[in-house]
Amino acid sequence: MNPYEMACYQLERAAEIAGVDEGIVEYLKVPDRAVEVKVPVKMDDGSLRIFTGYRVQHCGIRGPYKGGIRYHPNVTMDEVKALAMWMTWKCALVNIPFGGGKGGVRVNAKELSRGELERLTRRFTTMLIPFIGPERDIPAPDMYTDEQTMAWMMDTYSVYKGYAVPGIVTGKPVSLGGSLGRNSATGRGVAIIARESAKAIGMDISEMTVAVQGYGNVGYWAAKTLHEMGATIVAVSDSRGGVFNPEGLDPDEVLEFKRKTGTVVGYEGEQITNEELLELDVDVLVPAAIENVINESNMRNIKARLVVEGANGPITPEAEEYLDKKCELVVPDILANSGGVIVSYFEWVQDLERYFWDLEKVNAELEKILVRAFNDLLRTKQEYGDILWRDAAMVVALDRVVEALRKRGIFP
Ligand code: GLU
Repeated sequence: MNPYEMACYQLERAAEIAGVDEGIVEYLKVPDRAVEVKVPVKMDDGSLRIFTGYRVQHCGIRGPYKGGIRYHPNVTMDEVKALAMWMTWKCALVNIPFGGGKGGVRVNAKELSRGELERLTRRFTTMLIPFIGPERDIPAPDMYTDEQTMAWMMDTYSVYKGYAVPGIVTGKPVSLGGSLGRNSATGRGVAIIARESAKAIGMDISEMTVAVQGYGNVGYWAAKTLHEMGATIVAVSDSRGGVFNPEGLDPDEVLEFKRKTGTVVGYEGEQITNEELLELDVDVLVPAAIENVINESNMRNIKARLVVEGANGPITPEAEEYLDKKCELVVPDILANSGGVIVSYFEWVQDLERYFWDLEKVNAELEKILVRAFNDLLRTKQEYGDILWRDAAMVVALDRVVEALRKRGIFP
């Protein structure tokens, strides 16, 4: 299944459980708008290269489209369509007033110089101007884009408008109207959800062991926050491999090591592969790296009691069905990694109000929204009984979208 087929399959399953009629399911499968743009870039060596960019606006029923922009050589229209649909469910599940969107450029960002990346970002933004805006569609960072990418997007849009428009993107530097706590938000959200999941199975997170796959922004902040909550982080990894220490790792020391050497590999402890990390006998497993890492080939070896999806789509549908029975709780990405878009929402609110919050307020509001969403999920799962955790999450989200769609009606 390609990602878009997978997204449609998840929608169909949930729609059947929730009793949503066929016309509405067909409506929700297709994005409101999908644009493909040409992005010509003058390269440093004087040559001209043409890249392809996408922005998909899946469903604007509940508010402006919201979602990240990724730079990746494998980006396709189908992938962006799936990711945009997932954003619709994510925003509805945590009940923030956005619809789903996603964008991307088919490019290997690692091969481009900073100047080339800047020109690519500015031209891509220019091509999107008719479609984006603080009331219309608000991009954010995603894979291989960051604060600097958002700063260039914000500047390009603002130059065209003739005045600073901070609300055009989220995940900006704080000096341009970004929010405190945005950077840590996705990982912090993963940790809060892990803590709530532990409670739901009668455990205390401070007594649990954790393995985190991926030590980027999400993995590091998840490990750090879980460590602060008293959990024992026994293993972490990055794309080159991992390290295991049953006594526990200090997330900040590991980060310092990674900063110096470029990887967590070689840090004090037993050296393990990414495959071995996933199969460790731990209480909590957080896949926070890439897609499809838990699949038919290794699902039987997963021993964790809780799996919390830090990445988007780390478990294939077959493996998810299997693990849902074997593990006590498998928290789907649309809840587990929603902390990022929740604080994006706070950033946008602060930009529109021109009034900025302190970190305590950001973190307290994040916690409130996540705990509420987790309880909505628990309630729905109890109500329906024998359905996947993902189905339960999808039912909550779908109910909200369908309710809004019914109230607005189909125009004309
Ligand atoms: N790209 C992130 C996600 O997948 C964040 C999106 C946003 O903040 O708008 O949720």
